[in-house]
Parts: sequence; structure tokens; C-alpha cells
Amino acid sequence: MSLDLDERRRGMLEEMGIRLWPGEVAASIAPVDAERAGARQGLQRPNVATGISPAMTTAAAAHHPAVARGPAAAVDAMQWDALATAVANCRACNLCEGRTQTVFGVGDTQPDWLIVGEAPGENEDLQGEPFVGQAGKLLDNMLKSIGLERGRKVYIANVLKCRPLGNRNPQPDEVAQCEPFLRRQVELLRPRIILAMGRFAAQTLLASTEPIGKLRGRPYEYLGVPVVATYHPAYLLRNLPDKAKAWSDLCLAQELMRTRPPRR
Ligand code: URA
Repeated sequence: MSLDLDERRRGMLEEMGIRLWPGEVAASIAPVDAERAGARQGLQRPNVATGISPAMTTAAAAHHPAVARGPAAAVDAMQWDALATAVANCRACNLCEGRTQTVFGVGDTQPDWLIVGEAPGENEDLQGEPFVGQAGKLLDNMLKSIGLERGRKVYIANVLKCRPLGNRNPQPDEVAQCEPFLRRQVELLRPRIILAMGRFAAQTLLASTEPIGKLRGRPYEYLGVPVVATYHPAYLLRNLPDKAKAWSDLCLAQELMRTRPPRR
């Protein structure tokens, strides 16, 4: 590896607040692709989750008010503007009572990257945009560390479109009500890769109950799109040593992107 590359990557690591001793850079950024990542983790092939399980999709869809009141495929058939309107008007769960506004998502609607977070917090609820608080600043730095910028070939959305009051965890029924919106966003955005930030994003997209520590570090698939799960930036703000693992996940995602066909 050339010195220039080492230095560039050292710069990326510093963006994320990771300091390495000399000699550690090359070890930390061993190239990873889906096959090799799988092989390193004892998998013959990438661990492929087929996406939301049919049972969950059907259950979630059946309870969605837009679906309950209309044709079974209401959300699944919506185009972007109709979807945004449906989200803005959604009263499917109690979260609508405490919200200032829904937070649909932000960014390039023809993205290479889709970043999926958990739910709006207080700042996001007020501003109507995902990841605008402290966690958002770290997310921006994480994106910067792999040469990305909010809004440029990047779209950012959350599993939940409404803020859970007191920043409590999303409840399973809230996730089930909101998941069809996220699913339709993925179908319409057709990103080349999805980065799931934290437990709730990862578990929702991968239809799993495994902890994030188990889900991260290997590639999956959701609706045919590769998914890499990593720690949530808010968690990383409190658990600095895990930034190194998040960095390795970003490298995995970047490597997977290199093997993806360009958008058509
Ligand atoms: N955390 C999230 O998961 N999403 C946001 O939009 C803000 C904080």
C-alpha cells in the first residue's frame, strides 16, 4: 500500500476520531469484499437475508391504516410524493400524538447510498430532517470518512418517521406500522447499498432479533440491495472504542459498493 493511501485513510480515521499507532492503518483496512468477508467470518457466501419476512410484511401491511382502508397494496403502489403525503398524514400509532411533524427523509432521491437510522429525536422532530443533532454530526463525519456527503448520492431516512417521546426505544407495533413506508422508500430510491445504523435499523431491515454486535461486520441483502449494519452514531458517541468496528463496517460497505453495477 502506498504511503499516500495510508495517509488518506489515516485522515479518514481522524475524521471519525480514531487514532492509530503507526503500522496499524494497513492492518485495519485490509480490503474486504462480500466473498472474502464471508470467508473470513466462516461463511461460504455472504449471509443473505431475503429482507422482511413475508409474515412480518403481511402483518404490518394489514395493520397499516392506508392499507386497511384501501386496496391491500396501497403503500406498495405509491409513488414518491404520494408516499411522502401518506407519511405526513399517518395516524397509525400513538406517536402521531406527540410529534411536531413527521420526518420522511432527506437527500438525493437517486442515491448510491441509503442510510437508515432509528427514529427522529427532538431536533429532528423540530426541523423535519433526520440526523441533525449531535449524532447527526458524527454521522456526517462517518460519511465524510468514506468520501460521502449528506445529500450527494446519499439519502437518509429512519425506520420510524415520528419521534418517540423521551427518546425511548421504538416499540414493535410502531416499527410494524412504519416498516411499509421504509420498504417503499427502498423500492423507489433503488440505492446501490444500504447502511443500517444501529440495532433497530438493522433488526428491521434484516428481520432479525440478533443484537447489533452480531449483525454488524458482514453483508446482507434487503430487496436485492446489499446491507451493511453498524453501530448507531449516538451509541458511538458514548462508546468510543467501538468506533474502530464502525470504521471497519464502513470499509466493508465501501468495498461492496465497488462491486455494484452503476445506477441505470
Ligand atoms: N437518531 C436516529 O436514528 N435518527 C435521527 O434522525 C436522529 C437520531
